[in-house]
Amino acid sequence: MRRFRLFKRALRRIRGNMDCIFCKIVQGEIPSTKVYEDDQILAFRDLDPQAPVHILIIPKMHIASADALTEENAGVVSHIFVVAKQIAAQEGLTNGYRIVNNCGEDGGQTVKHLHFHLLGGRTMAWPPG
Ligand code: AMP
Repeated sequence: MRRFRLFKRALRRIRGNMDCIFCKIVQGEIPSTKVYEDDQILAFRDLDPQAPVHILIIPKMHIASADALTEENAGVVSHIFVVAKQIAAQEGLTNGYRIVNNCGEDGGQTVKHLHFHLLGGRTMAWPPG
């Protein structure tokens, strides 16, 4: 039974990979402008920047959204935030920046692979639209 569950989970992961543009970026099948990479995460410039600096930071593992986080896979999120701070410094964002996660349809998520937008280089408005 446990084996069957693990098999189903592996299958879901592979199927997710096949459909997912960010998984394809991780695998190098779609080009991206990388700014950081390690064994767990990848950061690359957004194709349609909403600020002078607009970088997406993603786990390499396919996680569909923030709503799919669990005790088992959520460790990567703290790593993303530590790296985000390093990237912000590298990009010269000395006056602050914003980290955004859009979750689900009402949250404005268009790519179903967990990602954090690192935005900076201008003053951000609040509340967001
Ligand atoms: P969200 O709307 O929060 O799901 O964000 C998805 C982001 O991915 C958008 O800001 C898009 O501009 C960005 N995006 C989509 N495809 C690519 C790509 N191939 N390379 C870089 N950014 C992308």
